Amino acid sequence: EAKLAGRNSLRFFDPYMQQIVSARLRLEEELRRGLEAREFVIYFQPQVDTARGIVGAEALVRWRHPERGVLAPGDFIEGAERGGLVQYLDLQVLELACKQLARWASQPSTERLALAVNISAPLLYQGNFVERVLELVRSNGFNPKRLKLELTESLLLDDMPEASLRMSALKAHGIHFSIDDFGTGYSSMTYLHRLPLDQLKIDRSFIQGMASDNGLAIVRAICALASTLDLEVLAEGVETQPQRQMLENNGCHLFQGYLFGQPVPIEAFEEMVARAARQPVSTCLGEPAEP
Ligand code: C2E
Ligand code: MG
Ligand code: MG
Ligand code: MG
Repeated sequence: EAKLAGRNSLRFFDPYMQQIVSARLRLEEELRRGLEAREFVIYFQPQVDTARGIVGAEALVRWRHPERGVLAPGDFIEGAERGGLVQYLDLQVLELACKQLARWASQPSTERLALAVNISAPLLYQGNFVERVLELVRSNGFNPKRLKLELTESLLLDDMPEASLRMSALKAHGIHFSIDDFGTGYSSMTYLHRLPLDQLKIDRSFIQGMASDNGLAIVRAICALASTLDLEVLAEGVETQPQRQMLENNGCHLFQGYLFGQPVPIEAFEEMVARAARQPVSTCLGEPAEP
């Protein structure tokens, strides 16, 4: 029996493996159907500037699944990547984001809001990516500087010269760029200053680690790097006042995290913006209001 169990051909029929394989195929099938039916929507998580209040949001995809309810990216992004579908998903999100920016542009109370969109490697490196983005900007009609594309370090490293060219082409039209999850990838000072970047987004893991001396040192280093390179720095995953205070002490004044608001549907986000506009900035940052 031992001899038989060791044979490769038998492993292929392992019922556990078979279950995984068929679950994956089912998810990919479902994703195709969901994309076709346009079941994907954006949730908006506020981005807050100490001096100006809510300055925009990150667009985070959610799947309004007809049977399983609202699903978060953790449930399906990997499947979309594996199935070669993530660029179609990202394009739908980008389209929704551009439509939203156009609606915001038509209202004085929202015209200054920016929207950050996550871009995957297959989309960035797709042949007509630059043209597609510019076409979305043109057809929707909004100020391109309100659109911020979030790229990760590993995605940039796939093909730095090509990524750089594409970014520059879009940057020339005013579109902004942020490095997402900064610090978790393989960054190098030599490429950072050559890319047309606007912002570094400190990964949540470093914010959570700030309570330790090492963690705080890393956050300080990233803030200093951003300042040296003349880039904005935004902290993601900020959950507590002490975290926010420590970040402010180190020159970081842009935040995203549960302390300021969870990702929510458009109605709730716009309500949040309206409420913040009626209050002084300090209140919307979670401090007690003056009586
Ligand atoms: P990300 O781009 O780094 O987005 C931030 C994630 O952190 C979001 O999770 C957000 O809900 C969560 N978060 C924000 N503040 C806090 C906080 O204070 N505490 C904690 N514990 N979490 C916080 P979400 O929405 O589940 O998205 C997860 C990841 O999925 C995103 O990470 C991004 O990499 C990916 N993703 C989201 N939307 C898209 C999309 O349209 N396209 C692609 N390709 N990926 C997307
Ligand atoms: Mg992001
Ligand atoms: Mg992030
Ligand atoms: Mg992250």
